[in-house]
Amino acid sequence: MSSLVQYHPRRFQKFQYIYPVVSRRAGGLSIGVNLSPTAQCNFSCVYCQVLAENQENSVRNSAINSGQNSVQRNNSATSIDCDLLESELRELVGMVNDGSLFRDTWLSRTPPEKQVLRDIAFSGDGEPTLSLQFSEVVRRVAVVRKEFCTEATKIVLITNGSTLHREPIRNTLETLLANNGEIWAKLDAGTPDYFRTISRSTISYEKILANLTEFSKNNPLVIQSCFVLLHDKEPDNEEIRHYAERLKLMNRIQRVQIYTVARQTPECWVLPLSNDQLDGISETVRKLTGLQVDSFYST
Ligand code: SF4
Repeated sequence: MSSLVQYHPRRFQKFQYIYPVVSRRAGGLSIGVNLSPTAQCNFSCVYCQVLAENQENSVRNSAINSGQNSVQRNNSATSIDCDLLESELRELVGMVNDGSLFRDTWLSRTPPEKQVLRDIAFSGDGEPTLSLQFSEVVRRVAVVRKEFCTEATKIVLITNGSTLHREPIRNTLETLLANNGEIWAKLDAGTPDYFRTISRSTISYEKILANLTEFSKNNPLVIQSCFVLLHDKEPDNEEIRHYAERLKLMNRIQRVQIYTVARQTPECWVLPLSNDQLDGISETVRKLTGLQVDSFYST
């Protein structure tokens, strides 16, 4: 473990669904909500940390034994115990508020300026919006936030954007946005080919792009983009130019977060960009789009 922000266990004490992290992108403490305990996701990103951890837990062995050349995601939905999730959230927020989280746990190393609850984030081991209880849990998180958190505490959804066209999801996101919510949607490519290489999903690039573009007509979006070295090659200028053009199709982008991997990836040929490479991409995107672009480095 080289730093607090690189240490992101998604399990905490006895809790099943809720965990604390000191997050680079949140700028302080984030309480994670894991709606994907079986790692349900319709992407299989080459840099996915959950896949990397699954490998450590021997998923790789079974993939190798079965002749596959990459680790695949789980696609089965799991039922969430909403009462348990809510009670865990109440308990963890209580530990933040009475200071015991920063006194009695591994988070005691958190610098004082980071000991602020910035957000409650739907993130976890997979795509949160695929959970059948997503709407119910958003409703409950909004109640707990109102009771025990400051107005500044956000509710964040980190999503791959694949379900933003669904009516029930859109309705739920209205609740989320009305509770100081932010939607951080992933876009890691400017072309269909590059998208397929990175996401290894059967969902098309056009579909994801249409979802983000349509959703951002009426709602604010934060775009999150992870760029990496693939077999020692960074994304080329054309890819980044196309990517910037896609961003310009979206109406209400609040900001763009460009980052690279900070932890182990599931594939040995996927490595972090250097700070200079990341800065170069961010600068190009800033110039081409006029958007606020923030960089998050590997170290
Ligand atoms: S969308 Fe997120 S959870 Fe799904 S594979 Fe990609 S990085 Fe992992």
